[in-house]
Amino acid sequence: MNFRIGSGYDVHQLVSDRKLILGGVTISHEKGLKGHSDADVIVHAVCDAMLGGAGLGDIGEHFPDSDPSFKGISSLVLMAHCRHLLQEKGYEVGNIDGTVFAQAPRISPYKKAMEENLARAAGVSVDRVNIKATTTEGLGFEGRGEGIGAHAVVLLQKLVQES
Ligand SMILES: [Zn+2]
Repeated sequence: MNFRIGSGYDVHQLVSDRKLILGGVTISHEKGLKGHSDADVIVHAVCDAMLGGAGLGDIGEHFPDSDPSFKGISSLVLMAHCRHLLQEKGYEVGNIDGTVFAQAPRISPYKKAMEENLARAAGVSVDRVNIKATTTEGLGFEGRGEGIGAHAVVLLQKLVQES
């Protein structure tokens, strides 16, 4: 199989005593996401898509909340580890398409920096990464500002053997 596809979805709660980190970018906001790691919801969705595409389960199995070594860790480090797990199965990332669901703050000023961080962690050029953002028109938990959700799709392609 030359190609496989994976999808990931994640949600974290917005709380007042945390920094907001999205796609490895620290964003000025009155609240941040609650979680064991840095709670980078879009990176978690991308990790789940990478692992899912390779048939490697999910992020919770590889980086359990019960493990103190993952406390406060940058999720980009976890994503780089996911890349190595893919390599061991003979795959690399083809492209990443992710969407952040947040009523606030505005994500667009940070998208480019997020794409660059994700590309570095995935080991691909930045033109293979796309981050989108949408509000939910005030509806649901994202609309009420209770949390931020993220969805990602990742295409995996067979590693080309060096000859
Ligand atoms: Zn998460």
